[in-house]
Amino acid sequence: MSERLRFTLADTDAPRQWYNLLADFPEPLPPPLHPGTKEPVTPEMMTAIFPENLVAQEMCSDRWVDIPDEVRDIYALWRPTPLLRAVRLEKALQTPAHIYYKYEGVSPAGSHKPNTAVPQAYYNKLAGTKRLATETGAGQWGSSLAFACKVFGLECVVYMVKVSFQQKPYRKLMMQTWGATVHPSPSEVTDFGRKMLAEDPHCNGSLGIAISEAIEDTVKHPGTKYSLGSVLNHVCLHQTVIGQEAIKQMELAGEAPDVIVGCVGGGSNFAGISFPFIGQKIKAGKNYRIIAVEPESCPSITKGDLRYDFGDTAEMTPLLMMHTLGHKFMPPSIHSGGLRYHGMAPMVSHARKLGLIEATSFPQLKIFEAGVLFARTEGIVPAPEPCHAIAAVIEEAVKCREEGRKKVILFNLCGHGMLDLPAYDTYLSGKMKDVED
Ligand SMILES: *Cc1c(COP(=O)(O)O)cnc(C)c1O
Repeated sequence: MSERLRFTLADTDAPRQWYNLLADFPEPLPPPLHPGTKEPVTPEMMTAIFPENLVAQEMCSDRWVDIPDEVRDIYALWRPTPLLRAVRLEKALQTPAHIYYKYEGVSPAGSHKPNTAVPQAYYNKLAGTKRLATETGAGQWGSSLAFACKVFGLECVVYMVKVSFQQKPYRKLMMQTWGATVHPSPSEVTDFGRKMLAEDPHCNGSLGIAISEAIEDTVKHPGTKYSLGSVLNHVCLHQTVIGQEAIKQMELAGEAPDVIVGCVGGGSNFAGISFPFIGQKIKAGKNYRIIAVEPESCPSITKGDLRYDFGDTAEMTPLLMMHTLGHKFMPPSIHSGGLRYHGMAPMVSHARKLGLIEATSFPQLKIFEAGVLFARTEGIVPAPEPCHAIAAVIEEAVKCREEGRKKVILFNLCGHGMLDLPAYDTYLSGKMKDVED
């Protein structure tokens, strides 16, 4: 074999701590505010919907946070995940660039989301929670939490954005297989869902609406807490196992990345791959270009304002300082359900404001073209969300060819697309549009 393609870590090299970028930001992150008083929210306010231990973690700015053994034992089912070099994609593009990808699709749910679902279920169990309520877009988060709840013996109820519930029945079946209850959102089981349906019986739903329903469910059911799969600081924290492993694996490959790319919906997989590298950028003066990629039709970080906004449509969450399209924004029904969110993680928004990262966007046809080329060269069929990252990687690699310059590019292949094949069907049969009707 000519070139080494796959870089794996021993189980004993798995990270023992999560990395907290809050400790290293050159300016502090603006705190979440109470919508009524406009004062910073107190831990007591947040414990209405989150357990105290996770609230403490949300507000913690220690640089390193120990990963509990119980969590590491579950991570060990699929972590450390592999890092691969995409030499066949490089050849197809005739580029001097070296392209590496961290593959998170090997988890039970097929994406990076179990990296936070497992610790969230664990901390809830520890705090005495009996039942977790949540929302899901494409179903990736709902299935990850369903799995994690089953592992720690918690009940799980999921409000799934209706358009995905209809387009992606297999994810619903995965959740049910892991024992969760799944409602299409807007649903008939909450006041807010019924209100939305009264206004528009054909409402496709959105993550903002589903979050409102899950929070309403939480406050109305004793023993229930709410769980969020992206956006919040503790979620970004849990995902940093990805970037920490990637740093060690790039060392094994004997290269350092010039460019690091991830797709962004709420920002968590991007945070996972990039925050440990951003830490090196701040502390060790490393000169990485770090690029967040989002859909052109839901462009929170490239076109949204940086301001305080609600995380949900019903205005039940605290105000978060983030890039936002406005909490009433109704994203079009693109196939990347996981990227249909009006806002961006405050930590990712802050990194953008401080000039530590860049952002770009791509339309739907372009990202499926990229995903199909990746599948035809590297084999793995990517989820539509990371196809955004792949489109940006291809653009960089083509630039390298045109400029006759080698660069090392690393991206996060945050999930596989084996349950997204209907979207590929739409693309391959020529019926896909940049924005669905
Ligand atoms: C949920 C999801 C996303 C979007 O969420 P982030 O928090 O931005 O990572 C992206 N890709 C996949 C595969 C997902 O499941």
